Order: sequence, then structure tokens, then C-alpha cells
Amino acid sequence: MRKNDEIVLDIIDLSNEGLGIGKVDGFPIFVKGAIIGDRIRAGITKLKKNFGYARILSIIEPSAYRTVPVCPVASRCGGCQLQHMKYENQLEYKNDKVKKCLTRLGGIKLDDESVEFRDIIGMENPWNYRNKAQFPVGTDAKNNISVGFYAEHTHGFVDIDSCAIQHRINDFLLKDIKDFISFHRSEGNPSRECLTIYDEKTQKGLIRHILTRVGFTTGEVMVCFVINGDRFPQQEKLTEVLLKSIDSYNKQYDEQLKLHCIAYNINKENTNVILGEKVVTIYGEPYIHDYIGSIRYQISPLSFYQVNPVQTNRLYSTALEFAGLTGNEVVWDIYCGIGTISLFLAQKAKQVYGVEIVPQAVEDAKANALINGINNTEFFAGAAEEVVPQMYEENPETRADVIVVDPPRKGCATELLSTIIKLAPERIVYVSCDPATLARDIKYLKTEGNYQLRKVQPVDMFPGGCHVECVVLMSKVKK
Ligand code: SAH
Repeated sequence: MRKNDEIVLDIIDLSNEGLGIGKVDGFPIFVKGAIIGDRIRAGITKLKKNFGYARILSIIEPSAYRTVPVCPVASRCGGCQLQHMKYENQLEYKNDKVKKCLTRLGGIKLDDESVEFRDIIGMENPWNYRNKAQFPVGTDAKNNISVGFYAEHTHGFVDIDSCAIQHRINDFLLKDIKDFISFHRSEGNPSRECLTIYDEKTQKGLIRHILTRVGFTTGEVMVCFVINGDRFPQQEKLTEVLLKSIDSYNKQYDEQLKLHCIAYNINKENTNVILGEKVVTIYGEPYIHDYIGSIRYQISPLSFYQVNPVQTNRLYSTALEFAGLTGNEVVWDIYCGIGTISLFLAQKAKQVYGVEIVPQAVEDAKANALINGINNTEFFAGAAEEVVPQMYEENPETRADVIVVDPPRKGCATELLSTIIKLAPERIVYVSCDPATLARDIKYLKTEGNYQLRKVQPVDMFPGGCHVECVVLMSKVKK
């Protein structure tokens, strides 16, 4: 096989990134946009030692799982990898992915009666579910403003007007912000009142990203501009435009969204990290609020907050159920963010300790405890793999009846897992956004510690995307 060869390929699997996988004499070929069950004519684009890549030339026989994507740019946008797959099949694929990871990487026997595997919880309406959007701002070939994403393999920028998984307010905001920037834009004119657009190549220009957040239960809207500079011109006019934008949305959908925060975030670094450290509020409060269950959360632009509020409620409720609290437990919530899970658990626990690396999030967590009148929580800022071992060393009697972890995709650091084993909680509730690292960590807790996997509940937090979230319960094996 060589580059540019044309082959016929049956797609038999999907990779973790949502690429279709077919095999030629056992040699795996990855194809973007292809799904299980497709028979395609493919052109080889790249060959490596153990695998290759190809692109679809034509679909000879479409998979029964195929559907027409809602977004016209779905095949080019990196946001949703699976929009061309029927929702019920997306769910089936994600359920399977968790099972495969647990058996292959975690060495778990799922048919073992001691493990309860619950089928994935999907969404009734898998659209417009996201409460947070991050749009890069750039220019197209004609130097017009575009807000959307970088097209693959080119330096071109793809402009979008609408995103089918975002809250609909984004359609209104995007249009009005684009018009506003275009109107006040003047490249080459150094006036302090002009807006310029950041250019990644030259690292010049002001506006880099638009970040929006909506509290689904409160209707509070945040708009934050990430800028390469220290000041944001035309603030009053911008406020007027955004107020009007939300007004038109409310009229069209008969809703009552409120502009609660306009801010800018300063990021002057040459980096693909979106946010810088400093946030300046232009209008309203420096955060918005949202409720999950009966708990009210304060969310600032820098803090992590789950993007799918409907499914988050289900995720946290499962975590709470798995934690099995009676009111007497000391609980640790590690990787606690703004204290979302901590406060959920605090309602049923004696004491909850949260650990989180982002100081701003810890501040939010403390504020969140206060505004909810919850006084049995304490939050610590720092890296979990440092803070928790340190606490254990200082006081080996540190009590932990239940430990909840909710790490980023790379999973838990070994230093943390080994300390968890020493703390010897009765139950470990692991909330994971990557089943591969989850399986690895389960294996560690099982082989190095004395823990057994009891329950698994995948939850679909990202319809259209290929990632899957999971809550599992491990408990100490009685000797
Ligand atoms: N449980 C929270 C946040 C989960 S996301 C929620 O559901 O909202 C993972 C969190 O881990 C983020 O807030 C991130 O800032 C934090 N984090 C990442 N690396 C960390 C580390 N080494 N130690 C502690 N927290 C970390």
C-alpha cells in the first residue's frame, strides 16, 4: 500500500477520537467521517509503521447508523465528531467503549455478578444542550471577520452562524458581536477606539476569543472577550448591543434571559491556551449563577463548570447515590472545581473536604458554600497529588470514609492513588471523562489496594461528540 492508493474499506470500529477504523490484511486504517458499518472507497493519505490514515472518496454502502448531520459544517468542524451517526447508535458506541476499556485495560470481568453495569444515560433532546461556548475570532480570505474554527489542513477560518449543540442565544450573540466588531474595526488605523482582530501568525490584533456562558436555570448570560491587550474599547456601545441581542432572543423564544456579566480576559501570550489569568468586568457581576438540583453555584469565567447541565444533574445524583452517605461520613472531593460535587454531597455528609488546583475555582467553591448556607465544607488549593499526600503525612489519622475523584482526562496521578489506598476509605466514587485512564486507575486500586469495582454508570454529557463520562463505585473488600 502507498500514499494516494485507492482501496475499498469496511469500517468495523471507531477510535477514541471518533475516526472510523477499517483493516487491510489486519493493518488498521483510520478514516475521518466514516462510521461502523460503512463500506467506502478511500484514498490513503498517510502511512505509518503500524497504521495509516485515509479519506473518504465515496460511500459505496452507507452504514445503517448513518444520518444527515444537522450542521452544514459538521464534516469540517472539529466540535462534533459523531453528528453523522444516529443518536441511539452514538449511545451504543459509547456504552461499548466503556465496556471495552474496563475489560481490556482494566482487566475487569463485567459478566462477574459483583459488577453492576448500568446502561448509558442519554438525553431526550440531544441538541442545544451546552451552556458554554468558546469561539475563536479570525478573518477569512477577504479579511472579513469570522467567528468559528480553523479548517483542517489549511490556514483558512470557517465562519459559523449557528451551532446546533449550543444554547440558542449564541446565534444571536454571534451575529451581533460580529456586526459590532466589523463596524468598529479599522485595520491599519491606530485609533485607540478601534477594534482589531488577533492574528495568530503575527500575534498582533486585539480580539482572540469570545466565551459565552448561560445559567440554564437562572437565565443569566455571561459574555467574555479574550483579548491581546490591556483595555477594551467601545465598552458602552458593546453593552448596548449585547442587551439588545438578548432582548431579541427573549422576544423570539418568549424567554427571560438576562445579561449578567460582560468581561474581558487578558491573554497576551503566544499560546493555544485560550484564557489568561486576569479578568476585568465591564458590566454586571464578575460571574453568573446556576442551579444543579437545589444548590446554587457562582461561576466565574476562569472556573471549570460542567457544560451540560441536564446530564450533570444525573451524573451528580449517581455520584451521590454511589457515595452511600448516611450523614456521618467524612468525604473528600478531589479535583473539586468550584465545589459542585462537594456541595451536592455536603447535604448528606458530616464533613466534606475539597481539593482543587485553580485558586479562582477554590474561591468560587468557598463562596458557593456560603451562598447556600452550607458550613460543613472546607476547600484546599493545590495539586491533588501534592496536597493529599502532604495531609496524610502530617496526620496519618486523617479520616476519609468516602473519596470522590473527578480528574481531567489524564486521570489520577499515582502519588494520589497510593495515598487514597493509605487513607483506606470504605468507598471510592470515580467520576471520569476518559474510560481509558479510568480503567487504568481502577486496575491500580484493585491490584495495589484492596478495592473492587461494584457499579458503573456511563452518562452521555456530549451528544454528537465522541467522549463519554462515567461514574463508578469501588469499595473496600472485606477481609
Ligand atoms: N468536580 C468538578 C470539576 C471536575 S473537572 C465538577 O464536576 O465541576 C477537573 C478539575 O480538576 C478542574 O477543576 C481542574 O482545574 C482540576 N485539576 C486539574 N488538575 C488538577 C490537579 N493536579 N490537582 C487538583 N485539581 C486539578
